[in-house]
Amino acid sequence: MKQFLNFINGEFVATGKTFDKRTPTTNAVIGAVHEAGRPEVDAAVAAARTALSGPWGQIGVVKRTDLLHKLADAINARFDEFLAAELADTGKPHSLASHVDIPRGAANFKVFADIVKNVPTESFEMVTPDGGKAISYGLRTPVGVVAVVCPWNLPLLLMTWKIGPALACGNTVVVKPSEETPATATLLGEVMNAVGIPKGVYNVVHGFGPDSAGELLTRHPGVNAITFTGETRTGEAIMAAAAKGVRPVSFELGGKNAGIVFADADFDKAVAGILRSSFENCGQVCLGTERVYVQRAIFNRFVASLAAKAAALKIGPPDLPGVGLGPLISAEHKAKVLGYYARAAAEGATVVTGGGVPAMPAELADGHWVQPTVWTGLPESASVVRDEVFGPCCHIAPFDTEAEAIALANATDYGLCTTVWTGDLGTAHRVAAAIEVGLCWINSWFLRDLRTAFGGAKASGLGREGGVHSLEFYTELRNVMVKL
Ligand code: NAD
Repeated sequence: MKQFLNFINGEFVATGKTFDKRTPTTNAVIGAVHEAGRPEVDAAVAAARTALSGPWGQIGVVKRTDLLHKLADAINARFDEFLAAELADTGKPHSLASHVDIPRGAANFKVFADIVKNVPTESFEMVTPDGGKAISYGLRTPVGVVAVVCPWNLPLLLMTWKIGPALACGNTVVVKPSEETPATATLLGEVMNAVGIPKGVYNVVHGFGPDSAGELLTRHPGVNAITFTGETRTGEAIMAAAAKGVRPVSFELGGKNAGIVFADADFDKAVAGILRSSFENCGQVCLGTERVYVQRAIFNRFVASLAAKAAALKIGPPDLPGVGLGPLISAEHKAKVLGYYARAAAEGATVVTGGGVPAMPAELADGHWVQPTVWTGLPESASVVRDEVFGPCCHIAPFDTEAEAIALANATDYGLCTTVWTGDLGTAHRVAAAIEVGLCWINSWFLRDLRTAFGGAKASGLGREGGVHSLEFYTELRNVMVKL
């Protein structure tokens, strides 16, 4: 049985307490995760603190970022191992993990290494009151020991999205991966040692959130800043923990994202785009579309076409040829999603397709499969139109005017992203400006340039990461005034 150990000060550390790691396709136990308690979290934070002032703090930005390039190359050299680990943990389609999760997991180190190495800081010259001169310049220093708390939906990709800039800026990290997906974070420890990242720079503590490694870490007084991706209500708990010591947080939280399809859109591209944004990764993408608003002239045709394509998605394990939909992450999450399916029906939804559990072959019968589901006919107050389900489902409602579409899309506490489909440039730019989100896609979805800002508005996040924006969180900007 595979053992998922903590990684502290360059060593793999077992604890007396383990929990099962199950694979979502069959629910079989595939490993034992060693849960970190207070002693391990204390040791990880202490190691990270020591490393800050040790070699990591001394080597300078060029050598540091060179090491991060080597790290990315080393991940790519062990691509198949990372891929296998991610597939076993999540059950997602092979094509998705091999094209998105693992390559981006490596790229995150290179992108931020290059940004940090090349970023300028401000410098001003001024005349002083006595008629002399002074220069004033900015100096960016690491913020310190950063706690990185991660979700399970894109484990390596989202973890490195935070570790990449954190390390490039000279910080050290203690990572708490999701209890559902311990594998790639653990494997990354081996790669860190192999490329010579100094001990204590990267540490991993496994466990759950409340009363476990997550809470111990985020409450730890030795942590200087906390970056978190996950549910909004977890963000609230972490924010309360961060209040002690007034420690900065960076949050990428939940969403209830709208897709808006105008009648003048390229119909086939819009259907294909919404199909992807609603069902990719079995709907377990924070940027996914769970509310679709379609202009009335094409509403019926759009619903029929999307539902037919959703129903045709091939459901199965990662290596099934042509697979379009994997399992949900856990039995618990499956119960939550099916609870929403039942509520939607009870609240009067027209279930255009799906709404239940697919028939699967005997060897996969215990996996966490659900059908891709499309609803219509619900009021905006219905649970599945209001709450983030985080499953392969969407509700489609008609709209008449641009103003109505904007109002519908904005009528949520969340504000992560939206995707707009139209053939009219003016419409596209007006909607992008009026929508209350951190990210707006026009005639596309999930396109990312890692140099740009990423984050959510309203209850979907706090702060922006990506490109130079990450430096706002991962560094302290000091001003130095020099009287000449
Ligand atoms: P989650 O909030 O349940 O868990 C995320 C992490 O927080 C896990 O590691 C968990 O153990 C830890 N945690 C839970 N309670 C904690 C506590 N009290 N203190 C410290 N740590 C705690 O989220 P999840 O179910 O893993 O992920 C799904 C959610 O993440 C969805 O809401 C999704 O929208 C969101 N998400 C957002 C983005 C984004 O970029 N905005 C990206 C991916 C996922």
